[in-house]
Amino acid sequence: MKGSWVLGKVAGIKIQVHWTFTLLLLWVLFSNFREGGDGVSALFSLALVLVLFGCVVLHELGHALMARKYQITTRSITLLPIGGVAALEKIPEKPKEELAVALAGPAVNAGIALVLLLLLPLRHYAGFEPEDWETFFSQPSVAGFLIYLFMANAMLVAFNLIPAFPMDGGRVLRALLGFYYSRARATEIAARLGQAVAFLFLFLGLFLNPFLVIIAIFVYFGAYAENQMVQQEDRLKGHTVREALLTQISLLPCDATLQQAIDLILKGTEKDFLVVREGGVCGILNNAEIARAATRPDTPVSELMLGEFPSVRPDAGLTETIQLMSREKQKFLPVLEDGRLLGAISSENISEFILLRTAAGHSTAT
Ligand SMILES: [Zn+2]
Repeated sequence: MKGSWVLGKVAGIKIQVHWTFTLLLLWVLFSNFREGGDGVSALFSLALVLVLFGCVVLHELGHALMARKYQITTRSITLLPIGGVAALEKIPEKPKEELAVALAGPAVNAGIALVLLLLLPLRHYAGFEPEDWETFFSQPSVAGFLIYLFMANAMLVAFNLIPAFPMDGGRVLRALLGFYYSRARATEIAARLGQAVAFLFLFLGLFLNPFLVIIAIFVYFGAYAENQMVQQEDRLKGHTVREALLTQISLLPCDATLQQAIDLILKGTEKDFLVVREGGVCGILNNAEIARAATRPDTPVSELMLGEFPSVRPDAGLTETIQLMSREKQKFLPVLEDGRLLGAISSENISEFILLRTAAGHSTAT
């Protein structure tokens, strides 16, 4: 994530903190002094927040290490003021595995809460009256620190298990629905419920806590985006590159100038081009590159083209191709069969394919 500082690595996973996290610390200090606190109580609050976020890191590591069991790597864990984000390479598709990964995070906090409960002299507090609690919490103490930490971890468990997809509880729900419905249908139901809960968060947040408003926005758009992705994958399932292959494409020779590419763009609807030499593809000339160099039309395309790129086979799945494109940050790739150029595949054409498939699906379903 941009604007993050790397703190270190745990089990090979980069732990980083986003700069906005400092705003949270400042806010903690500010509210401490506004409530008449002194230096000691400020340190107490800061330490509490830092230890609590340590628990959040452990929560995310819970997800990451469980995911590793299913051969899914985690690129990083980022701390934000509203919590942690573990960047898993992908979400497991099998309901049982998704259930385990989603539950692993809250399970860590449940474990921490349990240990704290065992450490605290609970019998001692049994006879406490409300005013005893007031005096107890008015002075920073180790026992008070542990009680706060216990409550925070218990709340983390409860909050994360709210079925607001794509929060943990929402993933648990989708995984459970996945035992009865298709992944696409299960995601749709979980996402709808997630968006409904987001509205509730928004409403409560406006009166109670601004952080809840931010979480509501994250949940709402997160649910939308992930549902879109799953529905798209579902429509592409079983379809191959051959079905969305672009065959009417202009090829640029290696010694062509940028002007030739500009002419082709103006004459037709093509935006990106393959550059060929002796029948083989030697480069990809992207639209963005053409636009960037447009003021120098004499530039040879060989200077602007991308020289290293993957190619796709016609029998490759469209889902895998989309994943490859997003990994390589490429929207246009050559399609080769046994070294022979068949055409190209573009993300735009895949979108078109999805659109036509959806329209066809609707007309045959009714
Ligand atoms: Zn979690």
